[in-house]
Amino acid sequence: MFQDIKENNQYKNLINGQWVVSDNKLTIHSPIDGSEVGKIQAMSKEEVNEAVEGAKKAYPIWAAKSVSERADILHKAAGLLEERVDAIADVLANEIAKDLGGAKSEVIRTVDFMRFTADEGKRIQGETLQGDGFHGFSKDKLAFVTREPVGVVLAISPFNYPVNLSASKIAPALMAGNSVVFKPPTQGSISALHLAKVFQDAGLPDGVLNTVTGKGSDIGDFIIQHEAIDLINFTGSSGVGKHISDVTSMVPTIMELGGKDAAIVLEDADMEHAANNIVKGAFSYSGQRCTALKRVLVLESIADQLVELITQGVSQLKVGSPFDHATITPLINEQAADFVQELIDDAIEKGATLKLGNKRDKNLLYPTVFDHVTTDMRIAWEEPFGPVLPIIRVQSIDEAIAIANASEYGLQSSIFTNDIDDAFHIARLLEVGTVQINNKTERGPDHFPFLGVKASGMGTQGIRYSIEAMSRPKAIVVNLRARS
Ligand code: NAD
Repeated sequence: MFQDIKENNQYKNLINGQWVVSDNKLTIHSPIDGSEVGKIQAMSKEEVNEAVEGAKKAYPIWAAKSVSERADILHKAAGLLEERVDAIADVLANEIAKDLGGAKSEVIRTVDFMRFTADEGKRIQGETLQGDGFHGFSKDKLAFVTREPVGVVLAISPFNYPVNLSASKIAPALMAGNSVVFKPPTQGSISALHLAKVFQDAGLPDGVLNTVTGKGSDIGDFIIQHEAIDLINFTGSSGVGKHISDVTSMVPTIMELGGKDAAIVLEDADMEHAANNIVKGAFSYSGQRCTALKRVLVLESIADQLVELITQGVSQLKVGSPFDHATITPLINEQAADFVQELIDDAIEKGATLKLGNKRDKNLLYPTVFDHVTTDMRIAWEEPFGPVLPIIRVQSIDEAIAIANASEYGLQSSIFTNDIDDAFHIARLLEVGTVQINNKTERGPDHFPFLGVKASGMGTQGIRYSIEAMSRPKAIVVNLRARS
């Protein structure tokens, strides 16, 4: 099934329909125990150039295919991915230390995503506009508005969902008629290359999808500034997103970046429901999710009760290996764990109440809960991307909204209450892309719009939104002969 992509535990890149090797390699170690997962290719700039030029050459061939032909290939790819769920989930668990259940659901969700994308692409039909909406123009002017592909899309994805967040760029880009250069995260490349193989096996013409792996410092800036790239679709940290924005110009970009999602808990909330959701939302995959709940804002009058319920829930989380279905698994690397530890140390030094955790074994961090977090602490504002939850007590709904909105980020927020008026009042005022009422923050279902405001991103994703974002309208205007 995977013979082409792998030789002597070295994973190759797909360029112009061939799986190819480079002179230099990078070794991918498992975050679980440091063992070698495999080697990937450290491409040179010349090889990256070949991948981009290949995509450019293949673009008109793919753009000329009918929407139904493109949809057929996506459906076939989804079917193949479905057959490979277990094999790819195993690679994911080993490569990024995602618990096996979470790894399987990532792949299954991707299968669904690809099928829905194929069907949705067929429903985008364009429109006809009549010209008489402006004074001085008449209905004899008709615009036929179609959607056109943009050309070569550069898809860059992060380590935490290397299959799903890659497919959520590649599939809509292809459905819109674009060719794709795909740069997976270094840690996560091996899982992501399995996804590329699925598209190839489904019959995608050579060159329509090319993969690029290597050191960010060697090829990152080269590829984002390559003149043949027509659009960049990036998911990752706000720091790298800003860098890409700074060094590219006149290239449209879509960015899904970091977050500091807040859960606001009001006095009339169902406390057990809120606590359960908060525990899941903050700690699944060890908090390494853009939409993880990263702070709780709770009214003082109910804080004691909520803090106890959350602490109790967190104390029951399984810590250990992803293959034992632990929720808390080793973080992606020691550097990530060092950063979370810095935030924990800062909170302790500034007087937060440690309810649980602050225990560490290399890159395995035990789940940590802080009560009485104050706004002078780094953990109140910075994105940890690890298993630590700060709880901030507030005196009023207005204070909760003010603290929620003071963040540089604006991805999602949750509100827990049984009062629909309060829920809508707060939801309208929160500066985020999505507000969840009585649920943890999360992405999906995947046809819902998904976006961040402020430092959390720009542009909108979600199946139809993604297809539209990676295509452009074209108006062909017919000027009929006026009849008297
Ligand atoms: P990262 O920013 O370190 O890396 C993301 C990708 O960018 C990787 O493929 C990396 O190799 C690549 N990259 C780095 N420098 C580059 C450069 N100069 N040119 C081109 N590519 C470059 O992020 P990460 O650590 O992989 O992921 C975690 C971050 O991603 C968190 O901040 C998280 O919130 C965010 N994230 C956001 C979403 C979302 O939808 N908003 C989803 C998942 C993750």
